[in-house]
Amino acid sequence: MTQKNDIETRVNELRDLINKYDYAYYNEAESLVSDKEYDLLFKELQTLENANPHLIISNSPTQRVGGEPLKEFSQINHATPMLSLANTYSRKEVDDFINRVNKELNYKDIEYCCELKIDGVAVSIIYKEGKFYLGATRGDGFSGDDISHNLRTIKTIPLSIENTELRNFEVRGEAYMNISDFDEINKIRELQGEKLYANPRNTTAGSLKLLNSKETAKRKINFFAYYLHTNDINISNHSTGLELLKKSGFTINPAYKVCKNIEEIFEFIDYWDKSRNTLSFQIDGIVIKVNSLKEQDELGTVARSPKWAIAYKYEAERAETIVKDIVLQVGRTGAVSPVAELEPVLLAGSTISRATLHNYDFIQELDIRISDTVLIEKGGEIIPKVVKVVLEKRPPNSEKYTFPEYCPCETDSKLVRLEGEANYYCLSPNCPCQLRRTIEHFASREAMEIEGLGEKVVEQLFDLGYLKDISDIYNLKNHKDELLKIERWGKRSVDNILEAIERSKEKSFEKILFGLGIRFIGQGGAKLLARNFKDIDHIAKASYEDLTAVSEIGNKMAESIINYFQNEINIKMINKLKNYGLNFSQNVEKIDNTKEGIFGKTFVFTGELDSFSRSEAAKMIEKFGGKEVKSVSKNTNYVVVGTSPGSKYDKALKLGIEILNEKEFLELLT
Ligand code: NAD
Repeated sequence: MTQKNDIETRVNELRDLINKYDYAYYNEAESLVSDKEYDLLFKELQTLENANPHLIISNSPTQRVGGEPLKEFSQINHATPMLSLANTYSRKEVDDFINRVNKELNYKDIEYCCELKIDGVAVSIIYKEGKFYLGATRGDGFSGDDISHNLRTIKTIPLSIENTELRNFEVRGEAYMNISDFDEINKIRELQGEKLYANPRNTTAGSLKLLNSKETAKRKINFFAYYLHTNDINISNHSTGLELLKKSGFTINPAYKVCKNIEEIFEFIDYWDKSRNTLSFQIDGIVIKVNSLKEQDELGTVARSPKWAIAYKYEAERAETIVKDIVLQVGRTGAVSPVAELEPVLLAGSTISRATLHNYDFIQELDIRISDTVLIEKGGEIIPKVVKVVLEKRPPNSEKYTFPEYCPCETDSKLVRLEGEANYYCLSPNCPCQLRRTIEHFASREAMEIEGLGEKVVEQLFDLGYLKDISDIYNLKNHKDELLKIERWGKRSVDNILEAIERSKEKSFEKILFGLGIRFIGQGGAKLLARNFKDIDHIAKASYEDLTAVSEIGNKMAESIINYFQNEINIKMINKLKNYGLNFSQNVEKIDNTKEGIFGKTFVFTGELDSFSRSEAAKMIEKFGGKEVKSVSKNTNYVVVGTSPGSKYDKALKLGIEILNEKEFLELLT
């Protein structure tokens, strides 16, 4: 192949890769590679295109901004394009940028506004007559998705503006999530056996694209405004715009600084490089912007970024350490995750002694071996990960890691890899690790809230033989004398735990159901089951068809429920729990039969209701003796229609069923 063809092939290869990563990043809120890796590929493509301009095509990733519009949302055209930023990891290139700006503007005294580069999602919001009008994502830079319904739920985005000078304007800024809120979401997902989110940025992007804004509201997203465009007032500087936004009720990031020279810029960069760990949110660098709006105009833009700004990106913090061992952790569902035990090392402000190795494929891909020196990184992801083996430091006698064949807990249970899954599983119902995790889950805050029965205590009681399964929790009171003899356990702590256990008997059926830890049955799933089947015996007897007839219950959930109740061990344990007095049926509220329009009537809901969710509406009619059914037939009494109704509406029209809008439905209830 000629050299020319080599270049063309590489250009095409890079475009394919970048397009793939862009799609995952912008449309599916997922990072397939690290940002640094992505940025290096992007730079390589830019360099090849600059050297071979005839290869530039208009839809090359270098010529356009990230995402594509999603079909679920209507599109909003941006008044001025929302561009990306030129970025660099090199101080020399920051210096070059300043020199270029100085030269183009003829060496005037140029001010630069330096800001934190918040690692979130860019959004644009339009205000009309001082009121929130609509809000959109950046999309492809020219038009973005209308996500007004979700942006309205963000408390730091004012819905109306007090400042009477500012009436019609556009604000742009970064929607982001605090690290602690992100951790909290993941903690709950972990308890529910769901896949953990990778980082706050991706989680924010995913949350803003949810169709149900009630869900978005739960995610605690924040907003920093960093751009104002208005014809109402004359603004000469970017920093003046920031202050005006602040005066008008927006939150701006207070850390910005107007710098007069390169020394001040580097001082700002260095300060935040050292101090970024003290922030409650993630940043990935610093944005340096020419402060004068007139000078910004003079400089203009190139294909995908303004010439008046540059992002200096921080390297993800890395540290070198030694893999002392590779251990397997067995989760509640039996999934086995390999973890590297490390020589403790300081990274990004905390001492790290373990790193996730994800699964066997990952270990093989990097060829990670015990005794290897590795680089670990705490980048976008919260949990540190191994990024590279330092091969030069590999001991000569090291051996390739082989994945254990048997479960580390239940040593005669052979691990299996289920079809389509990256993980190996221990499928033994007696696996002590799984049993312990299941007990921990049952006692957790989200389930039975048994204070004092945390990981360590469960482990201790399990090892001593007092806890073999969930039901043994309620037998602990018969071992009180033995518990008092455990080292460091005083009378007070024993009494407290036993009281918390007794109190937990009052928990609702849905909490207990969630606590059982049936695979794929999170809090929402437990609620659905409790509400639709009323008691445990009906759930246990339900067929696949019965289960999937509940619209939110899919194949995986139905199969998992059936498997769970086919297991004799589970049935025996539930019977024991029943004997201990736990509540295995939904409390039936006394039916109020005073509303004739509802009592004994059947309702079908279609479309989104403004005042409450469909399941809340169903609960309300149940209180008055009405019943929700999922499909329209000639026996249906009412079809309640919200916004964007589905085919049930057409069917109701065809069958001549009485149709109620939300207002009419509310009238029936009052
Ligand atoms: P960018 O994130 O590098 O810079 C532009 C964005 O910075 C703006 O849209 C805005 O959202 C944000 N920003 C934060 N604080 C700001 C502030 N104070 N002022 C102005 N803007 C601010 O560019 P991009 O186009 O959003 O994304 C490209 C980058 O995303 C890449 O450089 C790469 O690091 C990452 N990426 C990663 C992958 C992957 O697979 N890992 C894929 C695509 C993109």
